[in-house]
Amino acid sequence: MVLSCMDPRFQPIVYNYLKKRKLNGKYSAFTLAGSAIGVTAIRFKKWHKSFWDNIDVSVKLHKIRKLIVINHYDCGAAKMINGKKKFNKINETKIHSKSFIMIKNKFKKKYPSLDIETILISLNKKAEKF
Ligand SMILES: [Zn+2]
Repeated sequence: MVLSCMDPRFQPIVYNYLKKRKLNGKYSAFTLAGSAIGVTAIRFKKWHKSFWDNIDVSVKLHKIRKLIVINHYDCGAAKMINGKKKFNKINETKIHSKSFIMIKNKFKKKYPSLDIETILISLNKKAEKF
């Protein structure tokens, strides 16, 4: 399963990134604002349950073995979490990195036999693993 952000600029980037990894047609997709931020930050608490419910369904129905989480730079959800602080690369990376730690912890607790991968992608298509 792939978790990614709803930002329109990143739809082709995420699609092509996964295609390059030969994952076309092999993943179910869950897309919402902020990706891992949207499913971990208190600010978006109401969204969390939908995500975990969908993972449950995907585990049962599609027998997924892995969750690939793709966050992206210049993310509106990260800007919201950042609040009034200066929105620079250091502060934004901290927000993404925190969301990755949180989602990994929860995911490993709920699905110890499944893999999780966390990736931060930028508009110039550079993908960094976290
Ligand atoms: Zn975003």
